[in-house]
Amino acid sequence: MAPAYCPACGRAQVADARFCSNCGQSFEAAPTAPAAAVDHQAMAQNMLYWQRLEWKLRAGRLLGLAAGILAWWFVVGPAMAGNPIGTFGAFFVLAFLGIWIGGQLVLQAIAKPRQ
Ligand SMILES: [Zn+2]
Repeated sequence: MAPAYCPACGRAQVADARFCSNCGQSFEAAPTAPAAAVDHQAMAQNMLYWQRLEWKLRAGRLLGLAAGILAWWFVVGPAMAGNPIGTFGAFFVLAFLGIWIGGQLVLQAIAKPRQ
């Protein structure tokens, strides 16, 4: 059954018309039920995608943090010997840099635009 007005252009419609007399919009499509089912599935897949991405991000940040601490321990720490403030500061800089770089690497390697 045709709607009283075309949903696309708003033109008043003849009862039982299958297409809009003005713009040709079809009135036969019933978008509510099937679209809702598809949306639900897509939403579940999207959630799974973001959950996996979050875990990969955590892993990447953890590895980055480990790399930053290792760099600090073997390279920066000995170079900063006798400079406790520099040693302390370098630890935080390298740790946060490692976390940030790890996250960025994961994002660039794995993240895809939403489909
Ligand atoms: Zn129309």
